[in-house]
Amino acid sequence: MATTTDSSEALPLLGIGSCLAGNAVRYNGQTKSPNTHVRNLCERFQTRAFCPEMGIGLGVPRPPIHLVGDEHAVRIVDVETHEHDYTEQIRAYAAQVVQQAPGMVGYILVKGSPSCGYGRVKRYSPAGHFVASDQDGIFAAELRRLDPLLALEDDGRLNDPGLRESFVTRACAYHDWKRSVADGVSARLLVDFWSRYKYLVMAHHVPAYKAIGPLLAQAGKAPLQPLADEFISTLMTALARPATRRSHSNVLFHIAGYLKRRISPEQRRRLSELIEDYRTGQVPLIVPITLLKHHFADNPDAYINGQVFMDPYPDAARLRSLV
Ligand code: SF4
Repeated sequence: MATTTDSSEALPLLGIGSCLAGNAVRYNGQTKSPNTHVRNLCERFQTRAFCPEMGIGLGVPRPPIHLVGDEHAVRIVDVETHEHDYTEQIRAYAAQVVQQAPGMVGYILVKGSPSCGYGRVKRYSPAGHFVASDQDGIFAAELRRLDPLLALEDDGRLNDPGLRESFVTRACAYHDWKRSVADGVSARLLVDFWSRYKYLVMAHHVPAYKAIGPLLAQAGKAPLQPLADEFISTLMTALARPATRRSHSNVLFHIAGYLKRRISPEQRRRLSELIEDYRTGQVPLIVPITLLKHHFADNPDAYINGQVFMDPYPDAARLRSLV
């Protein structure tokens, strides 16, 4: 099952579990209520809903299924008899989804589902006893395997501001990447792309920030496509690490340095105080960012204006008011 809630080509496309999108496709014929954050994301992104269990032909209502096996070899089978194994069908459905939605840059998964859950799905023994909550759902795991750059989170984890910000940042970065390389990769493109992402990556993971420069220094010496693949993989992995107030503050101070000779000592003092207020948790990130933008509007700097850190996603203000 697939629905599209917005046909805009410009917005990043997120997949979403169909039950979270308001469709009565759960095994018991119900929907799952989306939380505020899922609703906000659906309003700001293009979304497309999929239900793997309906997609492989299971109806509504249907017998419940769950994960059985050892940690590295789980199968998805019916709870009652363990005789019906849907693992390969659901994996094949995930491949269909990736094929049908080539512009997809992220996916809102469904907490706890043996198909669509992310990271903490319950696993049972062959005898049907609970073993651990340590699995991805089968569909989610296959999505991750097929496209490791996809931003994945479940509706439960999206309640965490840091994870939510990282999810949105990754989805938007992947969208930017897909559009940037649509006509092919060049050494110039890689360098320009990296130039715009430097401070955002610094905010998320300093070791990756330090590794990418030497990596791109190989452009022109090493085969380009493997280099591009390693570059975007390193960048997206870095963005998957939630930024902290401390790491954001570090970047804010770096960016403020570009204003050193352009604003008055009093303005510099006020800016430093605000960044410090943010670092110590007294104001949200949007406050120092807004003041920086104000100063850069009066004192334009092409390098800083091009930094994705200043505007990493649509309606950044609303998300950044939370972090
Ligand atoms: S969790 Fe996934 S498989 Fe289950 S009803 Fe929702 S979309 Fe369908």
